[in-house]
Amino acid sequence: LVARMRPFGTTIFAEMSALAVRTGAVNLGQGFPDTDGPPEMLAAAAEALRGGHNQYPPGPGIPALRAAVAAHQQRFQNLTYDPDGEIVITAGATEAVAASILALCEPGDEVVCFEPYYDSYAASIALAGAVRRPVTLRPTADGRYAFDPAALRAAFGPRTRLVLLNSPHNPTGKVFTPAELAMVADLCQEFDAYAVTDEVYEHLVFTDAASPHVSLATLPGMRERTLRISSAGKTFSCTGWKVGWASGPAALVSAVVRVKQFLTYVNAAPLQPAVAVALALPDDYYTGFRDGLQQQRDQLVDGLTDAGFDVLGSEGTYFVTADITALGGRDGVEFCRSLPERCGVVAVPTQVFYDDIDAGRRLVRFAFCKRPEVLTEAVTRLRTLR
Ligand code: PMP
Ligand code: GLN
Repeated sequence: LVARMRPFGTTIFAEMSALAVRTGAVNLGQGFPDTDGPPEMLAAAAEALRGGHNQYPPGPGIPALRAAVAAHQQRFQNLTYDPDGEIVITAGATEAVAASILALCEPGDEVVCFEPYYDSYAASIALAGAVRRPVTLRPTADGRYAFDPAALRAAFGPRTRLVLLNSPHNPTGKVFTPAELAMVADLCQEFDAYAVTDEVYEHLVFTDAASPHVSLATLPGMRERTLRISSAGKTFSCTGWKVGWASGPAALVSAVVRVKQFLTYVNAAPLQPAVAVALALPDDYYTGFRDGLQQQRDQLVDGLTDAGFDVLGSEGTYFVTADITALGGRDGVEFCRSLPERCGVVAVPTQVFYDDIDAGRRLVRFAFCKRPEVLTEAVTRLRTLR
């Protein structure tokens, strides 16, 4: 194995899901829903499978899906992208992120990101021979997560090529505020950096969040330097489909297409028309899905609090984080490895998403994208920790 990949072992998600299967624990580790997405979407996929949509689709994705992605971004973010040239369909957001970094970074270029970061970011940056410059998000007294503006500025320099921004943020559940986004936007322009935004949780922002989800590309001067990434997995409860997209100015998108050609060439022919159907669903679908998830969040937050965790706020995503100190926990990895045995629940230690491990040592992440009865069982088990 090449040196640049040696630091990357089995992903924590695979490790923890395997642990859940082995121990029969309730799996609140890896973030995937346990119910299916909208029936209209599933029917469209079945129809496409039977209807002969089983060969290579066009390189940038089928026209109907690119048009649907464009209409969706217009509807929810008032962003205009030309489906012919400014949008590419990818094998999930994961491929879009990887292809963007590989397309834009020379070896030695620096990528500013916020830690804890989604695990594929570090690997994609390493594959490009680039260097990550993490800015640490830390719990605040009021139970949110924030960064030090001076640390953000200090992360930028002459080698900064791009900022990789995930909001709503996995694993913290943080939604970046307009003021925080403005700081990022100003620095991108001052240092002439690109932005790659991972917005896969764009529709999973709860009604009590400090601000709604705002795409960085909507800020002045940002559309022209931003690749905006999202995917169907979270919004439509189909994480196994791996249908994502990147949108941006034609020059940036064509760079991503150039790389994507040789990563996967194309993907998911029969699923693309189905995702186009899903994206066009009325607003009720999106708000209804969000409301259901918010109730699940509340259920899990109450249960974790009862069980003795110090629970941090979750404004969006599938996830909530909690500090384990009050339960006698000193290290999240040890805590999560022993949790199935202690009470039959699996969680994920968030320290594995930090370079500064101490900053996340006592934090663990729980997924609440599970049916209420599953959460009830998990909470019953967690209460035995007290
Ligand atoms: N980015 C973030 C922040 C995620 O949490 C995930 C999901 N699991 C992804 C990207 C990957 O998305 P996809 O499955 O569409 O590749
Ligand atoms: N995004 C999901 C999570 O954070 C899982 C992704 C994966 O398994 N690679 O849990």
